[in-house]
Amino acid sequence: MAHSNTVVATRSGMMLDSRTVFFLVAVSAVLASAALALVNRRGLPVPGVRLWTVGNAIGAVGLMLSVARAALPELFGIVLANILLVLAMSCQIAGCRQFVGRPGRLGFGLVLTAAIAVEAAWFTFVQPSIATRVVAISLLFALLSGAGAWALLRPGLKPALPLRCYGGLYLVLALFFVVRAGMAWDVVLPDYFASGPIALSAHLAGFVQLVLGTFLQLVLIAEWLVADIARQASLDPLTGLLNRRAFAAIAGKLLAAATRSGRPVALLMLDLDHFKRANDSRGHAFGDQLLCRFARVAERELRAGDVICRHGGEEFAALLPDADPDQALLVADRLRRAFAADPCSAEVRATVSVGIAACDLGDGLDGLLRRADRALYRAKNEGRDRCVLGG
Ligand code: GH3
Ligand code: MG
Ligand code: MG
Repeated sequence: MAHSNTVVATRSGMMLDSRTVFFLVAVSAVLASAALALVNRRGLPVPGVRLWTVGNAIGAVGLMLSVARAALPELFGIVLANILLVLAMSCQIAGCRQFVGRPGRLGFGLVLTAAIAVEAAWFTFVQPSIATRVVAISLLFALLSGAGAWALLRPGLKPALPLRCYGGLYLVLALFFVVRAGMAWDVVLPDYFASGPIALSAHLAGFVQLVLGTFLQLVLIAEWLVADIARQASLDPLTGLLNRRAFAAIAGKLLAAATRSGRPVALLMLDLDHFKRANDSRGHAFGDQLLCRFARVAERELRAGDVICRHGGEEFAALLPDADPDQALLVADRLRRAFAADPCSAEVRATVSVGIAACDLGDGLDGLLRRADRALYRAKNEGRDRCVLGG
């Protein structure tokens, strides 16, 4: 193969020297892959990020081999380069699948990796034909890019904007590789490297997929982490229920909506009975377990639109939209009985007392909490393990 350097003239008259372009592609690929490796050096909890990091590193090596193919034996510059590029894309696509909550399986990618190894080797060493090789490899990359687009744009998924951009990138790449296959089929390439734009375009496609892909990965990682911080700031770490602050924000909105619509709302204050005893007799860890059990039972027994939080210690608060006082009493009593019947609480005969306040028009959260707390006090004084509706 001749190792000529291609110079492509741009409209402005500037010369685009292919070796300079290849060098810049290689440097950018290394930087893109290093960016993700640096961001992920302590192992981020973002789903798919490990596969992206590994994929980008493999992609950078593959792209470097590919752009340096003129100076390398064909085994490295063509066969190994293509194997690494397919493997890299497979990892990146599997990472995207993990990111959207699906299994990040590499099976299909490994089959395509094996296929490209056979294709590239066959049309390079056994039946050398540059045109057929370019067609075969381009079609395989088109298939892989199509799989990437499908993973992110499939119907039923509602991906955020950066994920849609990522899917769009794969779609454009799939179209590009189909067109490239068509071009290579038409033009019998006497010398791949002398073919100027066609040779350049493949490297540029690899470059775009790696650099733009890394850019989108970094945006996705940042968005996921911000959402995770917001989620953690609103949850109680032990029970996984909302914390008091997040509850107050949601309850404020629900109460305002109830005031506008004139529909009833009720608030429950729930306090585990003699919880200190359970702690003292069975240890703090068991106490924690009991709190978690209560949270799960409450989630099970409450209705879909109800909101519950850990208000502090062994106290919980629940807001029940569209529940009049009788319904609230019914729900509270169902929850009380379910907790008493739970195997974990039955072990220590743990029970819960509930104070209920029905919302008067224009009631704020603080007023409701105060009234529910007074009702809870009565429930405790009247012997615990009961529900009391406040006046
Ligand atoms: P009462 O029936 O009057 O509510 O009695 P009680 O023992 O449940 O109430 P008290 O306020 O005397 O004790 C509450 C205990 O809850 C004291 C505290 O150590 C314990 N507690 C608070 N938060 C946690 C927690 O996160 N884990 C555990 N294991 N215990 C906790
Ligand atoms: Mg208590
Ligand atoms: Mg208490």
